[in-house]
Amino acid sequence: MSSADGRIEGHTVDPAELLSAAPGPAPTHARRRPSLKDHSRAALRALFGARGWPAYRADQVANWLYQQDATRLDQMTNLPAGLRGEIEAEFEVDTLEVALTQTSVDGTRKLLLRAFDGASIEAVLIPEERRHTLCVSTQVGCPLTCSFCATGALGFTRNLSAGEIVDQVLHARRRIPAGEVLTNVVFMGMGEPLLNLPNVSEAIRILVDPKGLALAPRRITVSTAGVLPQIGPLLAVAPIHLAVSLHATTDAVRDVLVPLNKRFPLEELMATLRSEPQLNRRRPVFFEYTLMDGINDSLEDARRMPKLLAGIPAKVNVIPMNPHADAPYQPPPGAVVDRFTAALHEAGLRVTLRRDRGRDIDAACGQLANRAAPSRPSTPPPAGAPARPESLQEHLAEGRCQPGDAGS
Ligand code: SF4
Repeated sequence: MSSADGRIEGHTVDPAELLSAAPGPAPTHARRRPSLKDHSRAALRALFGARGWPAYRADQVANWLYQQDATRLDQMTNLPAGLRGEIEAEFEVDTLEVALTQTSVDGTRKLLLRAFDGASIEAVLIPEERRHTLCVSTQVGCPLTCSFCATGALGFTRNLSAGEIVDQVLHARRRIPAGEVLTNVVFMGMGEPLLNLPNVSEAIRILVDPKGLALAPRRITVSTAGVLPQIGPLLAVAPIHLAVSLHATTDAVRDVLVPLNKRFPLEELMATLRSEPQLNRRRPVFFEYTLMDGINDSLEDARRMPKLLAGIPAKVNVIPMNPHADAPYQPPPGAVVDRFTAALHEAGLRVTLRRDRGRDIDAACGQLANRAAPSRPSTPPPAGAPARPESLQEHLAEGRCQPGDAGS
């Protein structure tokens, strides 16, 4: 599915190749030492034990990192100095530094974070009345080239380590006002989390560990464009929520908006979700539906959706398109958005309309593109390949598909 540089190539590559874009927890960049935060507490205990260090010292290190927010080993004063030196010889503590913080008029904050190899990623902290939600990235860029998404236009550079995912949470937590707490983490930033499942899983274990970041699993949501073989293994990590980037009700339209659909079309996606025993009404799938003017916002789309989702415990999040320079799509007029969501409601679906947050700083859904970074890390497309996937407008102009086409 993805070529060596991570780009979609239509129907010619099998899922094993797609998943090979995410080789696992192997070193993800040229850092000299792994980070202590690359490992869950259980894994850290095993690593310490293998080195002849008492396993309980790993618990003390985790307490310093996640509960006392230590950033250096010399702050861990209940560890013997000799042991601190031995740990320091093998492990880093921090993995990311904050290069820039931008604040939206609505209070949303976008962090531009830089790794030791110079790679840049973004995380978005969204304050709401009674909660603070952080949107984290899982890859530098993304191989999936969804045609409405600014991250997809960057190309793919590499997977983030577990420590780099966890460090986004730690940096964001430091920016929350005293007396308030980070309540929710959503894996909806740059990258496809299920193409980096080993590191995403280890990060989740640290987030939900009562002696780690102690977040309730139900406060964590991981989004996928539909990497079907990895959905079951993700849901087994912890009772977190799953979000699926749906965005279309026919294969003809979704093939263009989410090219991964060519490998895992709607029928297979829905069959996988329908047969997944770990999903239920208390643990439904959140279907993300970015509403685009004249593309996927018809009443026919709204009428098709309940049939498509039948038998799946579901909530639908409708998100009017956040326009940006890398995609040709626009949000529909407000009346069309209202008509679409009302039709879903009337059909009996649980629906929410997501408010824009951080659009003025390019922090809204689909807008993350390191625009504030001095240089964008990206992999150029292979010789002869189009720089961008075909736009849906081009398809429509040539009569190859219609927004109202029936799915397969
Ligand atoms: S929408 Fe998600 S999966 Fe698609 S290109 Fe953007 S970051 Fe990747």
